[in-house]
Amino acid sequence: MLLRFRPYTLELRHAFTLATSSRTTTPDMLVEVEADGLIGYGEAAMPPYLGESPGTAAAFLRQVDLTGCPTPATLPALLRAIDALAPGHPAAKAAIDIALHDWMGKKLGVALHRLWDLDPAKTPVTSFTIGIDAPDVVRQKTHEAAPYRILKVKLGRSPSLDRQLIGSIRSVTDKPITVDANQGWLDREDALRLTEWLAGQGVVFVEQPMPKDRPDDTAWLRARSPLPLIADESCQRLADIPRLRGVFDGINIKLMKCTGLHEAREMIALARSLGLKVMLGCMTETSCAISAAAQLSPLVDWADLDGALLIANDPFEGATVVDGRIVLPDRPGIGVQPRPAA
Ligand SMILES: [Mg+2]
Repeated sequence: MLLRFRPYTLELRHAFTLATSSRTTTPDMLVEVEADGLIGYGEAAMPPYLGESPGTAAAFLRQVDLTGCPTPATLPALLRAIDALAPGHPAAKAAIDIALHDWMGKKLGVALHRLWDLDPAKTPVTSFTIGIDAPDVVRQKTHEAAPYRILKVKLGRSPSLDRQLIGSIRSVTDKPITVDANQGWLDREDALRLTEWLAGQGVVFVEQPMPKDRPDDTAWLRARSPLPLIADESCQRLADIPRLRGVFDGINIKLMKCTGLHEAREMIALARSLGLKVMLGCMTETSCAISAAAQLSPLVDWADLDGALLIANDPFEGATVVDGRIVLPDRPGIGVQPRPAA
């Protein structure tokens, strides 16, 4: 089996501002595996603050040896061996995981969600992210988000700015809002007051309210919060999940954090067995990784799979969003094809 990869720069439609950073591009690596005349597509999206880069991904991918072609029986062991090549590199590992799953689905002639016996009619609605911005820009972006039924808002700068941002959106729409503080709330009493206020503003849940190294404060907040708390930065991989019980109400799974589809499926099963809610999220990434994650979406409570909608140069077409809901293409594998040149 041949393995190819090349760096690709994702151009963002709007500057992407979080509590701690702002940027207009995301480094990415496009990966292909090829055998028997079939190509499997994968991708590593690497926001710089997470520590991977096209250089680290290339160095990792050069170590991967693909002798023999994956089947449903052999793929898990192959992915474990790739994971064991080096610690870290979750996005590079996700790229190869996605490409191998895509190739295997094509070889079997079946979409992955059908291989996993998931009902494509059960895909969730996906939220659309409104970034941190000036109030008039936030109102404009809220208008542009008309096709989406749930809005996701990045908070975490200060309680007063957070209230102002929610107020700007509420001046335009009464749609449900999910909130992501990206670890930005540092005082638990402030966090509780803000959570109580948000509960009265039609907010559905709060993602990662406090820093990931503060589980005791997060558990304190959870015991009092009227809204569910969802772990993002606190939940990277399968091994993180057991210690989240009692601290969070659910987890946000992203392929780029957890090394791909194989581990994501294990995480969903473990989270369910522990009574945790499950959300499926993404980085800014192309329709390749989004369509891969979308194959799992019939299993989750909430999806935040707007990553490909936030970039201006998506080289693939795959899963789409129709009337706010994820629609899975009925093509084999992850269901993507290269987008015809404009
Ligand atoms: Mg998040």
